[in-house]
Amino acid sequence: MNKDIATPIRTKAILEKHGFSFKKSLGQNFLIDPNVLSNIVGHANLSKKVGVIEIGPGIGALTEYIARQAGKVVAYEIDGRLLPVLEDTLSPYENVTVIHQDVLEADLQAMIEKEFAEYDEIVVVANLPYYVTTPIIMKFLLERIPITGMIIMMQKEVADRITATPSTKAYGSLSIAIQYYMDASVAMIVPKTVFVPQPNVESAVLKLTRKEQLPAEVKDEDFLFQVSKGSFVQRRKTILNNLQTSLPDGKAKKDLLLAGLEEANIDPGRRGETLTIEEFAQLSNALYDHFKK
Ligand code: SAM
Repeated sequence: MNKDIATPIRTKAILEKHGFSFKKSLGQNFLIDPNVLSNIVGHANLSKKVGVIEIGPGIGALTEYIARQAGKVVAYEIDGRLLPVLEDTLSPYENVTVIHQDVLEADLQAMIEKEFAEYDEIVVVANLPYYVTTPIIMKFLLERIPITGMIIMMQKEVADRITATPSTKAYGSLSIAIQYYMDASVAMIVPKTVFVPQPNVESAVLKLTRKEQLPAEVKDEDFLFQVSKGSFVQRRKTILNNLQTSLPDGKAKKDLLLAGLEEANIDPGRRGETLTIEEFAQLSNALYDHFKK
């Protein structure tokens, strides 16, 4: 087996060899702990039948761990300075393709048709750039990218919000948007010391697994997310108050709002944070015809 990229000594040597300096604005915190890497890929249950999409390979620390176990890895890297580095560090692995692109701009469906046609399962494994964690996850979900799951490192605080349950402080529109599609759990907490440079925050590895069945039938998913987001604008206010200010013409259409809440069996005096996903789904269906613009 090739020598790990992710030891402090080898990483330092690679960075020096290529004269690489970190860009904080791109969320560049590289992993230098082989134990953490084997734990991450362990949670992904990889095999040679699985295709993996990685976001932000950096100098390839996680990529090589994935490449050893998966059938194929396609990794999106925004920073062109890392391309020659990756060509060097990942040269022993023939099953890796690096794409120099902002993943948020990528046509993932087209890439999957081209690269993963022969794989029955596709998963995302990544140590995400923290400044774009949520947009990246939501892109995969809203564009209906056919992945079965994600094993992703992120800020612990964001992982807590994604996995939160009703009536807790961390529960909000992000918990609902993600848990609508995926079962979410924290697989491990990761200390700052396993990165170079060390981030300012604690990290966690989140495991997302696609739900076999969506928790509720909704007329319009975007409207479900609009209603749930609008219900948390001011957490201490009631759902009626929040929706009056957040939905189009909400104040003028208070009667229709009250009727919708009644139809969905939700007391207008409750706070948004007490509603389950199923309740938000019922409410968004009841309000859809009157408020969807
Ligand atoms: N995977 C490496 C590791 O674990 O050591 C590096 C992870 S580092 C937290 C995040 C990586 O994402 C960096 O290499 C950064 O350049 C890259 N990146 C940042 N924004 C990106 C974007 N929008 N699209 C693709 N890659 C991005």
